[in-house]
Amino acid sequence: MRLVLLGAPGSGKGTQAALLKERLGCAHVSTGDIFRKNLKKETPLGLLARSYMDKGALVPDEVVLKMVSGRLLEPDMKAGFLLDGFPRTIAQAEFLESFLAERGQALDAVILFDIGDEALVRRLSNRRTCRSCGAIFNLLTLDGDGHSCPACSGELYQRDDDEESVIRNRLKVFHDQTQPLIDWYGKKGLLSAVDASQAPEAAYGDIAAILKRHGAS
Ligand code: ADP
Ligand code: ZN
Repeated sequence: MRLVLLGAPGSGKGTQAALLKERLGCAHVSTGDIFRKNLKKETPLGLLARSYMDKGALVPDEVVLKMVSGRLLEPDMKAGFLLDGFPRTIAQAEFLESFLAERGQALDAVILFDIGDEALVRRLSNRRTCRSCGAIFNLLTLDGDGHSCPACSGELYQRDDDEESVIRNRLKVFHDQTQPLIDWYGKKGLLSAVDASQAPEAAYGDIAAILKRHGAS
C-alpha cells in the first residue's frame, strides 16, 4: 500500500501511523521526525530546518523534496509506505505524483484526518513524547504522573513547537498551505476522510475499514 496521511498538526497522524505500520508492515516516513532527528544530531539539515520549525513555518520545498526523494529511493520503500507530514504543499504533492509515475507507481489512498482547530490546540498543548521509545501521549488521557512514560519509564517531554503561540501559527500554515491538498486529492478520487476527533482506537477502526475497501488485508 502507498498511503498519504493528510491532516492538521495534532490530528493524530503519528499515532495512527505507528499502528498502521505494524498492521501493513510497510515503511513509515514522517518528515517531522526526520527533521527532529537531524536537529538532535545538529546536522546541517537539522540546523536549517530549526529556524522554520521554531516559528511553526514550513521548511522550504526544495529542502524537503531533496530529503524525501532520497528517502523514497531506499530499499524498504518497495513494500509500500505511509507518508506522514508529507506532502504539505501543492508543489510537494505534484513532485510526489511525478516521482511515483516515473517509476510506474501511484498512491493507493489519501486519508484525511478531519478535526476542528479548538480540539487541535487542546491536544497539542497537552501532547507529550517519550524521549526513550518515542511513544506519544496526551496529558488529558494519560494514566500516570505526566513525567515518565507508562510504556518504558522514559522521560516525557513537550515538543518546542507545541507551545501555544507556535501551535496557532502551525494551524494557520495548515489552512493556508496544506488545506488546498484536500481539494487536489479529492478531484483525483484518492481522498477518504476519517473523524479524527474520536479516540485513537475508534479512528483506527475507521481507517482499517477504508483500507479494506482498498484491498488491504
Ligand atoms: P505536526 O504535523 O504536528 O505539525 P510534524 O512533526 O509533521 O508536526 O512537523 C513539524 C515541523 O517540521 C513542521 O511545522 C515544519 O516546520 C516541518 N515539516 C515537516 N514536514 C514538512 C513538509 N512536508 N514540508 C515542510 N515542512 C515540514
Ligand atoms: Zn517510552
